[in-house]
Amino acid sequence: MTPRYRAVKGTRDLLPPESERFAAAETIAREIFSSYGYGETRTPILEATELFARSVGETTDLVHKEMYTFADRKGRSLTMRPENTAGIVRAAIERGLAAGPMPLRLWCHGPQFRYERPQAGRYREFRQIDAELFGVAGPVAEAEILRMLVAFLRALGFRALSVSLNSVGTAESRAAFGQALRKHLKPNAVSFGEDDRRKLAENPLRLFESKDPAVRKALQAAPQTLDFLDDSSRRHHEEVRRLLSAAGIPYRDDPALVRGLDYYTRTVFEVVSGDLGAQDAILGGGRYDNLVELLGGPALPAIGFAIGEDRLLSVAPFSSAVRGWALLLPQEPEDVDEALGLAEDLRRTAPGLTVEVDLLARGFKKGMARANTLFEEAGERSLERERMFAVLLGSREREQGAITVKKLATGEQETFPRSELAERFGAARER
Ligand code: AMP
Repeated sequence: MTPRYRAVKGTRDLLPPESERFAAAETIAREIFSSYGYGETRTPILEATELFARSVGETTDLVHKEMYTFADRKGRSLTMRPENTAGIVRAAIERGLAAGPMPLRLWCHGPQFRYERPQAGRYREFRQIDAELFGVAGPVAEAEILRMLVAFLRALGFRALSVSLNSVGTAESRAAFGQALRKHLKPNAVSFGEDDRRKLAENPLRLFESKDPAVRKALQAAPQTLDFLDDSSRRHHEEVRRLLSAAGIPYRDDPALVRGLDYYTRTVFEVVSGDLGAQDAILGGGRYDNLVELLGGPALPAIGFAIGEDRLLSVAPFSSAVRGWALLLPQEPEDVDEALGLAEDLRRTAPGLTVEVDLLARGFKKGMARANTLFEEAGERSLERERMFAVLLGSREREQGAITVKKLATGEQETFPRSELAERFGAARER
């Protein structure tokens, strides 16, 4: 049957078991981030358009071309958030957290929206996990946030990832760098497309995002941000590198890393996975010491990162925790009610066991077929084969007040009084 309605281009449904992997990764994030003192926040998907124009930057591709912006019924310009930091900063100022005790540690996860050309690993609705640390100007902020990030990635099974690192300096050093970059690139501008010529005039740092081979070639011998750092940013950067080495966090210097958003100051970083082809950045982050003030709050240094959850999970080696599973098969519709009661007993005695009742009472044959299909798919569904059972409640069992438990891995089955179900089931589990 051809479906009448389809998901909007660039969006996708997360269904089990994939959705369960997302939930499991978010649970790991919650456990690890809260163990570092980061509190979970949930800010709205809709924000005033102005918030992103001001923070991310008018001339960035993100704001210029990729936002889902519309006028609401009262003509207010709203945008479906393309990233989380601006909303968190807005909330921290509006709700007084930015004027409260420091450091302030927050994290969140949720969908983001960007009107990009969909391709492998790139969607128009995608999910991010973010963490933000406010109120710490020194390089120890980088040390904490990157230690936490690496702890999270390791918990997801990553081993050989390396952090790409650069510093874009202060607003002044960025401006000096931008000028030098413009001067360097100008002679080649005739070979650039219109969009890149606009960037060259308005915000030359954005050219590092260009995919055009002519721009890439011209950038090869371009000046580097590190050559334009003021003394204090240079010392900060050296100290960040020292602290990362001391923490055993592998990193490599990447002079071409400037990141796609305008609010970054000093440290910028990304983590790249070789498995993702061209769309290889699984996360990015950096320091944004001017943003809180720019958005009307106090002068408050800050640093954060955003992990692309869709990309992360397409390469993360972790698998969700495995569970046992039992399918309770009432033979006749009148046995269903009793099966529901038995299922409750089972869930109580065997925690971590998923117990499903065949509410449609389709009979043993169909029920066993479903149980066996699930058994075949155990791997992708994170089910533990040794703890998978079919529990039969038929006319014979009804007459005898008994129950039959079949272990799917061996086909062994045993019939015993229903009153012993919970107890025997525990024993079956051990075997
Ligand atoms: P950014 O906010 O642009 O620094 O992006 C942070 C991370 O979000 C990137 O490293 C990607 O992993 C992810 N990301 C950004 N855009 C998309 C997209 N359109 N689809 C999927 N993931 C994305």
